[in-house]
Amino acid sequence: MVNFNYSPVTEKVLEDLALILGKQNISTDEEKIESYSRDEVAPHLWKEKHVAEVVCFPESVEQVSALMRYANEHRIPVTPRGAGTGLSGGAVPAFRGIELSFEKMNRILDVDLKNLTITVEPGVVTSEINRTAASFGLLYAGDPCSGDASFIGGNVAENAGGNKVIKYGPTGGSVLGMEVVLADGSVSWFGGKRRKDVTGYDFVHLMVGSEGTLGIITKIVLKLMPLPAYVVDLLVPFKDIPTAMEFVPRIMLEGKVTPSSIEFMDGAAIRLAERFLSTRLPCDDAEAHLIIQLEGVDRETLSDDLERIGDLCLAHGALEVFVADNRNTRDKLWKARKSVAEAVWAYAPIQVANEDIVVPTSEVPELMAELDRIAREKSILYVSYGHVGDGNMHVTLYLEGETPDWKEILEDGRLELYRVVRRLGGTLTGEHGVGLKRAEYIPMFLDEAQIDLIRRVKLAFDPNNILNPGKIVPWE
Ligand SMILES: Cc1cc2nc3c(=O)[nH]c(=O)nc-3n(C[C@H](O)[C@H](O)[C@H](O)COP(=O)(O)OP(=O)(O)OC[C@H]3O[C@@H](n4cnc5c(N)ncnc54)[C@H](O)[C@@H]3O)c2cc1C
Repeated sequence: MVNFNYSPVTEKVLEDLALILGKQNISTDEEKIESYSRDEVAPHLWKEKHVAEVVCFPESVEQVSALMRYANEHRIPVTPRGAGTGLSGGAVPAFRGIELSFEKMNRILDVDLKNLTITVEPGVVTSEINRTAASFGLLYAGDPCSGDASFIGGNVAENAGGNKVIKYGPTGGSVLGMEVVLADGSVSWFGGKRRKDVTGYDFVHLMVGSEGTLGIITKIVLKLMPLPAYVVDLLVPFKDIPTAMEFVPRIMLEGKVTPSSIEFMDGAAIRLAERFLSTRLPCDDAEAHLIIQLEGVDRETLSDDLERIGDLCLAHGALEVFVADNRNTRDKLWKARKSVAEAVWAYAPIQVANEDIVVPTSEVPELMAELDRIAREKSILYVSYGHVGDGNMHVTLYLEGETPDWKEILEDGRLELYRVVRRLGGTLTGEHGVGLKRAEYIPMFLDEAQIDLIRRVKLAFDPNNILNPGKIVPWE
């Protein structure tokens, strides 16, 4: 039996934590605790309120190690937290205890131009890593839409995706090594600056996406690449979603190029983003839009690729091809794409929150057709957008106006959508993680043997079950 009985954070515990971290690095201020106990999942979606008992702000691996040793001995749950931009309740303290913020461990430790690596603490904001790499003419390829806010520790713990996965892979593809504090306080290095490593199990990539349940990440070594010299973005409107979806696989197959992004926004998504940002994009009355990003080492090759892909778009139903080839137009386009999630939350009156479903890319057209059918049959509205090149679609189901049974109606729609995703060989979450929000749906997607294995791996790393307990799989 897994034990979920924990010790409370008493005055004595607070005194001990102050000795470990320094008084200035712990807070019991109610407002602060409340705000650090949330991520971007709307709190009204939780069945009960989840609030930590204390927030801790370690400044070094030694402090994290001492804190974990103490929490393990006293059986106090610890929930690691990055910037709290998560969309699965990963940083929400399901069993109270200590909320462990990494905002004070925010240093870039080393840019190694011989090994092409950057070593960072977990509290560095993602876009700071992009900018630092770029200042050396290098690329850090992680590019989640939340990159101006999220921390790299949160990205690694969620294996965040984003806009460049089709070419460079998700965050995990850039992670070469990490320093980890285990549940009992011991400190270990998994991987390092080396590009190859099969010495033992691949713990680096077990930690990637482990959502703070297996260990605390205190340093990360990330891979860098040459920064592409030329980049161009195409905004391509289509009259309807099926035409756009059918076109996507042709980009690589017939266009003979791997774009760095193939993103999708439906008509509602682009119009909500425009309203949110008080801006206008061309052809915004179309029902489907693709953003295709191409990179090149020289102008000539890029302009050949651009012409070929542009012609292909027009031959397969594109209404127009708009080229964004300067900083201003490219920024405007990406600002719109990256603000869709917030725009949907701002204007969709009642919602079942952001879905993060993935299907094999060949099944995206059918997924979208089924989504439309479900919405019509159940009189639900939806907005869809996402990383279509990876088959990873974000769907928000919502109702216009309030009805007493809105939760049931939306839940019914969500379950039907999950059944379709499963039938198409897809899965529940592609980049936002399971966390607290999706754990109950895991048995629809993973068999009992795998769920049992996940529980056993978790308890092998964390026998006292103190690290972010209650997440990823159902435990009851
Ligand atoms: C507007 C918006 C757009 C987004 N776009 C994208 C997108 O394009 N792609 C994408 O993948 N996600 C996206 N997200 C989701 C979110 O930004 C990512 O999941 C991100 O990786 C979370 O980082 P964070 O620092 O906010 O982590 P948090 O939300 O604070 O925590 C996330 C998880 O990481 C764990 N954790 C944090 N730090 C550590 C550590 N040091 N050691 C161990 N575990 C740790 C936490 O316990 C938790 O389980 C978006 C979110 C928003 C609000």
